Amino acid sequence: MVEPGLQITFNPNGCFVKDMKNQGKLIAKGERNGRMLTLDVNMPEVNSMLFTHGKGAGNIGIWHKQVGHVNLQRFKLMEKQKLVGGLPKFGVKEVMSEVCEACQLGKQARHPFPTQTTHVSSKPLEMIHSNVWTTKTESIGECKYYVSFIDDHTRMMWVYFMKHKGEVFQHFLNFKAMVEKEKGVNIKCLRFDGGGEYFSNEFSEYLKEHGIQRKYLCSYSPQQNGVAERKNRHIAEITCAMLNEKNLPNYFWVEAIAITVYIMNRTPIVVVHSMTLEEKFTSKKLDVSHFIVFGCIACVHVPNEKRSKLDPKAEKCIFIGYSSKQKGYDVSILPLRNCK
Ligand SMILES: [Zn+2]
Repeated sequence: MVEPGLQITFNPNGCFVKDMKNQGKLIAKGERNGRMLTLDVNMPEVNSMLFTHGKGAGNIGIWHKQVGHVNLQRFKLMEKQKLVGGLPKFGVKEVMSEVCEACQLGKQARHPFPTQTTHVSSKPLEMIHSNVWTTKTESIGECKYYVSFIDDHTRMMWVYFMKHKGEVFQHFLNFKAMVEKEKGVNIKCLRFDGGGEYFSNEFSEYLKEHGIQRKYLCSYSPQQNGVAERKNRHIAEITCAMLNEKNLPNYFWVEAIAITVYIMNRTPIVVVHSMTLEEKFTSKKLDVSHFIVFGCIACVHVPNEKRSKLDPKAEKCIFIGYSSKQKGYDVSILPLRNCK
């Protein structure tokens, strides 16, 4: 309820919550109950409105945050060329009403995107770039690493979070099984940096047995592994901006990175700019109308069967990710009480 644009007015009988961005429309009522105020969350617009404050409608500033703090030029290109469904129409001269502070903090060291392609493969899965990223901050699930796999041809990316670097091989097996089933072709080459996790006997033997060429890059020369390095840097910048935006603690980095990769796969990059990465990989047009701002507050209705008579009818949650299993506006939520 503390999202910008809401106004709460108290009176002897309770309170009113108004949406000041929508001509002061009444969106929730609170009834006084002794010393407590009970918010009527069954009013039809309450849940949708609370999410609306994390949804862009026609506001270019909110859309900028929903689409991973994407720069406006790229964002307008997406809309103009109709690269995805579900975007509102913005004018050519439309700009954000204020500078995005989270971007200033998160993207200060940002390097421009390459203007020319560096990919060498002509088909999906001909070459996979891989890299392990490390942080000192343990996530909620006690992870400290992620391994990325990037398809050289489409630049579509997958990440797997890990507690130990030794998990890379198992994640590669899972990744390989998934993408090969989807594309109906086999991975031909794996390009990675000098991390020892790629050199275990079982990993080496497996690659040999399956005829997968191994391309090793010097770990002290990250430019050589440009694709994975650039992606890692870009991910870190967006993740930092998203955490800053909502003042979320760094241990949410797994959730922020997962959503960053989700967004990146659904936006175009210069190298394959005529479509989103996912469309290039799956040949399916995407819709982004379900995007909402990472970390926004939402009230989620608790069904009668999941609460006692004394429990509140709604739970305050923060949005931390999209469901990978179901279509549409289905989100993963983390109740605030679980935050440290
Ligand atoms: Zn921003």
